[in-house]
Amino acid sequence: MQRYDVIIIGGGVVGSAVARELTRYRLSVAVLEKESDVCTHTSGRNTGMLHAGFLYKTGSLKAQCAVEGNAEFDRVAKELDVPFKRTGKLLIGFTEEHRQRLLAMIERGRANGVPGMELIDRARMDEIDPSAGGNFAVYCPTSGILDPFLYTIALAENAAENGARYHLYTEVVGCGRLEDGSHVLHTNKGDFACRWVINSAGLRSAKISEMLGIPGYVIQPVKGEYFVLDKKAGAFAKIPVYPAPTERNTFDTHATPTVDGNVLVGPNSFNVQDGEDYSVRQIGMDGLQESGARMFRHMKREYYIRTFAGARPKRIDPATGEIQDFLIDRPDSVPGVINLVGIESPGLTSALPIARRVVGLIREKEELTPNPAFNPVHRSIRRFHEASREEQAALIAQNPDYGEIICRCETITRAEIVAAIHNPLGVSTVNGIKVRTRASMGRCQGGYCETRITALIREELGKAVGDVRLTNGSSAMFTGFVKGGDQA
Ligand SMILES: Cc1cc2nc3c(=O)[nH]c(=O)nc-3n(C[C@H](O)[C@H](O)[C@H](O)COP(=O)(O)OP(=O)(O)OC[C@H]3O[C@@H](n4cnc5c(N)ncnc54)[C@H](O)[C@@H]3O)c2cc1C
Repeated sequence: MQRYDVIIIGGGVVGSAVARELTRYRLSVAVLEKESDVCTHTSGRNTGMLHAGFLYKTGSLKAQCAVEGNAEFDRVAKELDVPFKRTGKLLIGFTEEHRQRLLAMIERGRANGVPGMELIDRARMDEIDPSAGGNFAVYCPTSGILDPFLYTIALAENAAENGARYHLYTEVVGCGRLEDGSHVLHTNKGDFACRWVINSAGLRSAKISEMLGIPGYVIQPVKGEYFVLDKKAGAFAKIPVYPAPTERNTFDTHATPTVDGNVLVGPNSFNVQDGEDYSVRQIGMDGLQESGARMFRHMKREYYIRTFAGARPKRIDPATGEIQDFLIDRPDSVPGVINLVGIESPGLTSALPIARRVVGLIREKEELTPNPAFNPVHRSIRRFHEASREEQAALIAQNPDYGEIICRCETITRAEIVAAIHNPLGVSTVNGIKVRTRASMGRCQGGYCETRITALIREELGKAVGDVRLTNGSSAMFTGFVKGGDQA
């Protein structure tokens, strides 16, 4: 049985932020993740907004963590080499009722400590972004956009570089206690023991909590569907555009530029039973087209390149159905557990503030010795298409693999793909390469490069053709060769 001081169940952005913050101390840390990679679920299925923190109830953990996470993100993005732009955000309105809700949002923003929010007129909106719909808007200068895949990966890889062990394809199926009081986690890959368990299982956090002996939490998955628009549309989108909040203080469909130059239109929002079913519905996409056009004047079918969906794990009060705050708890009833339940939006923005609170809860119970070897700096794979002509020539001279373009839409080179195949977490799926490099995220969506990426994975890792997966166990890219033999 493998033993660690701390085991984190779930390697999404929150679990990985916790792992990274714990490696600042002399602790043995492991992450058990049931999937093939760290951003398979909610952390890889969101809008990628660095929220400012004006939406959440004053004093709530959601408000505190979002404001804290927002304020520090310029430094964090630099430290972890995560693509990030502090774009600001527009919340647009058309009617007097919208104006009143927007003014209330400014007040809440002030109470939560969000700086610089102001109501602006159409003329000022045109200066900021003429493609935004609406007659007036609230401008919030501190909102931003980041790459949610690379942020999650950077946290996980930095944790691994600092000594955390990632066990992928490892699903916790039961929990118990050993005689010495440590926890034992039963998985499909055998048993693991530890002194502390951190439940960071996202959509399954209530289920894991119950396995740990803390029943009673209810997670309602709330699904959201999106369109991804081509970079041609991205050329018109300068700033995220959200509608005025609804009566219940939530937002409907918005249009958000991505940090790479695409546009996301969505999400809508509806309750589902299975949060891990990511299919999209025709009726949902038709609705997005209509509501998206109100936010973004260049919403055209010719720009659609992909759809996707994600689900927010909302913690609800079982008696009233009311949506609850984040739960960051060290229950007295089961020592050695920290429970993270209901980490829905703004969980991406809040990952590091949540992680620091987890460390604080452990530190209240035991002294933590700093790890003198901890290095907070992480470098992502060098992006050839972002380099100047001179830098590109120097890269090719150093390594001829930079001279071979594998993904033509996004200009991703063989050198980047090979670097991604040898990632520190040992992820070897085609999707794992995609989220690390952007290969296959362009207009053709992998039609040209997926077979070449498959061949490179085989070549670099010595895998048989039937062993290369898109994502998980059941998603083989190919089952064999049409004409027999073992040559591609
Ligand atoms: C549509 C949508 C839009 C959003 N937009 C934003 C945004 O713009 N900004 C923002 O700040 N937040 C946003 N969020 C919220 C944010 O994405 C989440 O709060 C955050 O990603 C949660 O991270 P996590 O690590 O808790 O969850 P996850 O990424 O879901 O990670 C949990 C992990 O636990 C693993 N797991 C579960 N059960 C087990 C088990 N038994 N054994 C082992 N592993 C297990 C899962 O496989 C999963 O990888 C959005 C969410 C959605 C759905």
